[in-house]
Amino acid sequence: MIPIATVFVDRDGVINRKLPDGEYVNSLDQFDLLPGSVEALAALSNAGSRVIVVTNQQGVGKGLTQPHALDQIHQRLRAAVAAAGGVLTAIIVCPHIEGSCDCRKPRIGLFVEAKRRYPQIEFSDSVVIGDSTCDIEAAGQIGANAILVTDEQGEPASGRSTVSSLAGAVELLLTPERADNEV
Ligand SMILES: [Mg+2]
Ligand SMILES: [Zn+2]
Repeated sequence: MIPIATVFVDRDGVINRKLPDGEYVNSLDQFDLLPGSVEALAALSNAGSRVIVVTNQQGVGKGLTQPHALDQIHQRLRAAVAAAGGVLTAIIVCPHIEGSCDCRKPRIGLFVEAKRRYPQIEFSDSVVIGDSTCDIEAAGQIGANAILVTDEQGEPASGRSTVSSLAGAVELLLTPERADNEV
């Protein structure tokens, strides 16, 4: 099948365990990868998709997350995906406090930055995988497809699919008949 050209993946709650609201992943020992997430990222990459992590990290703007720690965390993530045989094209971060920038999702600055770096990106040929409404809203604004990762049961809203994990999202994308029907 033809792979999805670009897959934008949220970080907290999708790739690694999300901490309670108001808490931030500030060190490597708080960066707890969710089961199967690294393998799913590698599988996407191996299928030919450009895989770009787009993440809100206002802990940086609040002075709670040190930029150095964030770099360490993202190096670990890159290394883990590489060890699984894949590659992350980019990790693009909004470090700003809510309401102070044009890049904190649901704003679209992180996606615009990705397209600035990789002009071949077509948003209409992209998918956003995220666990919060800000991810889904951003996808809608750029005209990309969206997959919501959630534990909650319920009727999926129109225009997007719902799965329980990143691995489930990637399975949906890489299984042709399901991808055709549901994404
Ligand atoms: Mg999230
Ligand atoms: Zn920002």
